[in-house]
Amino acid sequence: MSATVKCPTCGKAVAWTEAEKYRPFCSERCKLIDLGEWASGSYAIPAESNPKEHENSQDEF
Ligand SMILES: [Zn+2]
Repeated sequence: MSATVKCPTCGKAVAWTEAEKYRPFCSERCKLIDLGEWASGSYAIPAESNPKEHENSQDEF
C-alpha cells in the first residue's frame, strides 16, 4: 500500500514513503519555497518609516 500526496508548491504527486524526505513536498526546493512564502507572505514590514528622511526633505523646502 502506498499513498500519494500532492506537493503544495508545484502540485506534483509525491509518494508518501520513507524515501521521500521532503514529503509532502516533492523536493527540498519546493519545501524551501513554501517556507519562504510563509515567512514573507502576509506580514509586510513597512519599509518607508524613516523619519529622518522626512525631516531632511522639509529642511530643503
Ligand atoms: Zn514540488
